[in-house]
Amino acid sequence: MNRRRAPSELHRGLPPEVFARIVERVPMTEAAARYGLTLSRQGTCCCPFHSEKTPSFKVYPGTGGFYCFGCGAGGDVVTFVEKFLNLSPAQAARRLDADFSLGLFDSAAPPDDSWKQSKAERERSEQEKESKDWQLVLELRRLHRIPPPPATDPETYAQAKALEEYLEYVKETR
Ligand SMILES: [Zn+2]
Repeated sequence: MNRRRAPSELHRGLPPEVFARIVERVPMTEAAARYGLTLSRQGTCCCPFHSEKTPSFKVYPGTGGFYCFGCGAGGDVVTFVEKFLNLSPAQAARRLDADFSLGLFDSAAPPDDSWKQSKAERERSEQEKESKDWQLVLELRRLHRIPPPPATDPETYAQAKALEEYLEYVKETR
């Protein structure tokens, strides 16, 4: 089952310090126990990430994370939940926040960033409109055979001004 979402959704409203706080507050040993690993007194068990009969997976207390001497899998508590439950980093962070009642997130729902998207869309359509208008200007220049005016020339400035007025007219009537 693929539970991964589109990248833009993954990191919605998740500052990097959230991950650091989770690592600080959820001891790796507790997370391992919470998600069903049975650790020996030395903190070892059979690796959940590769098939083995002799335990080579070691969980370190506190912020030590985990490491498998068999397959090389390793990381912090967020990485563990990410891999173990097949979640994205942000999803793993939310999962740990919920399961260990950390209260790092205001609500279960991700913050609504749709205004950013609509702003980007608005800007894009404005750019498109500008580009179309510019095409129109070029077209009009061609029709009127007006050379590109130097900005300092008063006569061509007047022509440009007239062209601008004509352009406004065409824009209104198109
Ligand atoms: Zn392993």
